[in-house]
Amino acid sequence: MKTYIVGNWKLNFTVGEASIYLHKLLKTLPNYRDLEIVVAPSTLALQPLSLQVDRHKIKLAAQNGFYRDTGAYTGETSFAQLRGLVNYAIIGHSERRYVLHENDKEIAKKVAAAIRNHITPILCIGEIESERAFGETKDVIRDQLIGGLSEVSDDELAKVIIAYEPVWAISSAKSAKLASPDEIAEVVDLIRKTLSETYGAKAAEGVPVLFGGSVNPSNAGAYLTVPGVNGLLIGASSLILSEFVDIIEVAKRVRA
Ligand code: PEP
Repeated sequence: MKTYIVGNWKLNFTVGEASIYLHKLLKTLPNYRDLEIVVAPSTLALQPLSLQVDRHKIKLAAQNGFYRDTGAYTGETSFAQLRGLVNYAIIGHSERRYVLHENDKEIAKKVAAAIRNHITPILCIGEIESERAFGETKDVIRDQLIGGLSEVSDDELAKVIIAYEPVWAISSAKSAKLASPDEIAEVVDLIRKTLSETYGAKAAEGVPVLFGGSVNPSNAGAYLTVPGVNGLLIGASSLILSEFVDIIEVAKRVRA
């Protein structure tokens, strides 16, 4: 399986800034065969960047999309419109769940809409600090995983990526803490067990599971060697080109 390095730019960079970043990144990177390098710019930047990107080196992801393909849905952008512009879409990010109040039902429809439009969903799941403190992590992870995949058939599971992002470890959290490799390993194992119960062991094994939460060049190596982790989803550190490149270099060394 490839190792995924995904940069989530969130609501940062103008289209011009995003284009300059991409230009520099493309110039810096060789074509890494075993690494899948992905950046998720704002929706506005996807069209111009899709014309600029060299997809042998870097793929684009949307940060969101709407579950209906067309219709009277003011302000939305559908996966049908994103089709061809991006290879991936981040779905169910904690900021969309907790700031924008998206629920598992909507997230499941978005996952289905992405697949229907040939876009690989990166389904984000993760517990908040109080849920971990009250021993609810397992239930939350299972609920979000089963809920988010509720419209995904056996055949479609191979088209899905899961990102485990403990919300308390995301750098924008009020008092963000680093997740330990053991804490991550335990949840990643639970994710695979849950997938295995629903879709069978073989199908579960093939699903890439990424980790995200304050990843930077100094801890990326440790996180990439957690058993079962197939890549990283990176927020803040991906906004600094040199740090994102350093993380890619770490991934290359770890996977060599
Ligand atoms: C994220 O929000 O997906 C994320 C992982 O952010 P950060 O790397 O800044 O913690």
